Amino acid sequence: MALEKSNQEQEPKGRIEIDEERCKGCYLCIRACPGGLIEAGLRLNGAGYYAAVPKETLECTACGMCWQVCPDSAITVYRNVKEETP
Ligand code: SF4
Ligand code: SF4
Repeated sequence: MALEKSNQEQEPKGRIEIDEERCKGCYLCIRACPGGLIEAGLRLNGAGYYAAVPKETLECTACGMCWQVCPDSAITVYRNVKEETP
């Protein structure tokens, strides 16, 4: 039972990807994420911005707040959907 629970806790609800080359470094997504799961990256992109990057975490809920505020459509949100076994 404890093992089952621990496996469930490891299953993230969602995750995001940020297209670093589209990012303009406005950091609206960092302010919008309720869990503080996005940070400024350390690498300059081709346009000379420090693109935002998702933190290494399993806490993303796929709420979409970061996606909603991004003016450059640089963020893709993926929601984990549990597959039903027949
Ligand atoms: S809101 Fe979009 S453009 Fe602004 S820092 Fe986040 S990913 Fe980059
Ligand atoms: S989808 Fe929600 S929880 Fe996940 S990184 Fe974006 S704002 Fe944060």
